[in-house]
Amino acid sequence: MGVVSQPTSASECEAVLARQREHFWSGRTRSLPARQEALGRLRAGIRAREEAILAALSADLGKSPEEAYATEIAFLYQELRFAERHLRKWVRSQRVRRDLLQFPGRGRIHREPFGCCLLLGPWNYPFQLLLAPLVGALAGGNTAILKPSEVAPASEAVLAELIADSFEEGQVAVVRGGVDTSEALLALPFDKIFFTGSTRVGHLVAATAAQRLIPCTLELGGKSPTIVGKSADVSLAARRIVWGKFLNAGQTCVAPDFVLVHHNHYDALLRKLDLEIRARFGEDPRLHPQYGRIIHRGHHDRLTALLQGESPLRGGEADAEDLYLAPTVIAEPTPDSPLMEEEIFGPILPVLPFERTEEVISRLRDQPAPLALYLFSRDAQELSLLRKSLPSGGICVNGTLLHLLSPRLPFGGVGASGMGNYHGKASFEAFTRPRSELRMPARWPWHLTDRRRPLPLAFLRRWLR
Ligand code: NAD
Repeated sequence: MGVVSQPTSASECEAVLARQREHFWSGRTRSLPARQEALGRLRAGIRAREEAILAALSADLGKSPEEAYATEIAFLYQELRFAERHLRKWVRSQRVRRDLLQFPGRGRIHREPFGCCLLLGPWNYPFQLLLAPLVGALAGGNTAILKPSEVAPASEAVLAELIADSFEEGQVAVVRGGVDTSEALLALPFDKIFFTGSTRVGHLVAATAAQRLIPCTLELGGKSPTIVGKSADVSLAARRIVWGKFLNAGQTCVAPDFVLVHHNHYDALLRKLDLEIRARFGEDPRLHPQYGRIIHRGHHDRLTALLQGESPLRGGEADAEDLYLAPTVIAEPTPDSPLMEEEIFGPILPVLPFERTEEVISRLRDQPAPLALYLFSRDAQELSLLRKSLPSGGICVNGTLLHLLSPRLPFGGVGASGMGNYHGKASFEAFTRPRSELRMPARWPWHLTDRRRPLPLAFLRRWLR
């Protein structure tokens, strides 16, 4: 088994990649049993470290064991189970129909692994956001270097140990380090890059990958709007918005960023959000075991700065030492508030009223495309209009976050929120590419292209139209 590698210098990163390249071209990652074995190793590695994973998530983010298990470990088991169940079908090459021009040749499409992949992860769900792409990379028959976020150090250490104990370094390795290490890795000739993180760094990753024409998947962030329409069930909307917004203390890429509510329901929604927060986290959420913490002081400072000049309807209490920020609701933030400019990525929920659906459309259409769009409505026409009029990576109707939990629904962004998809079969497809093969029979005596003189133009015009 491999040793935990901690290359920080460019030359050390290069050496790990060289070992992975050798491993990949040895062909050892490609057979179906090899892929199944790799997925089994990953499952066993996670299973053996469940307690360590829960402890790391508690140390890094104050996540409760229930939340950590459901959103990180159980999610990974589901992705692994789905891949293991369907892999045999996914890897099978596909026959295509014979065409006249290639007759009697036979065409096939193989799903080809890219080779050596680089996976860069963020800190908010540090396990599943690196290991779910790894499921796709292994199912696809690739090798992978994982670079966890340095900002969640306890999780980074468990990830490094898990991978080192489960895989040879030539197949999967964890490289630890900060931005310098990410930059050193990005300078190397990987065959595929899978990046999850901010839109700002996503731009840098895409620009670097473009220099070598390396294909990349970008899973980025953005401001996911939540629209509560005139026909919505307001109690249900409040309950599901509070769950999706304050999970992981709002540090979820697809968390509802702000709410636009029909003016008829504005007061009722504010009241119900308040009741729901109390019902879920008690009078003092700081003491509630299910309420998490902000990742670090810098992020805490950024979030509290967003509250300057605002008068929270509820919450707003902050303790920098404890990295605590209460679940906070802001009714109608000031017009030039940064809350409505940048991705909040914390437990602050602005709520604004609207009168007409067209108003919502013209307001949101000028914004960068978000990762998710949440619609609470019982009016099929309104839902259809909003779906057709507003771009987003995914949509969830009368719920929040749930769409990303299904391996049957590809997950990803569009425009500023990313490019490419994963989860379930989409993960396999993200780490493989179609490779076409045409096989002509070795002994067939004659083919159209064997003619030394061109076919008459009249014949070509008649038959190839
Ligand atoms: P980040 O972009 O700061 O960091 C992500 C990774 O990039 C880390 O591994 C980091 O080491 C590396 N990195 C940072 N600066 C870099 C640079 N200059 N050059 C090269 N690499 C660099 O993101 P974060 O703060 O860890 O995560 C929060 C962001 O991620 C939010 O915007 C959130 O919406 C987004 N996110 C998206 C998804 C998704 O699935 N689409 C999931 C989680 C988080």
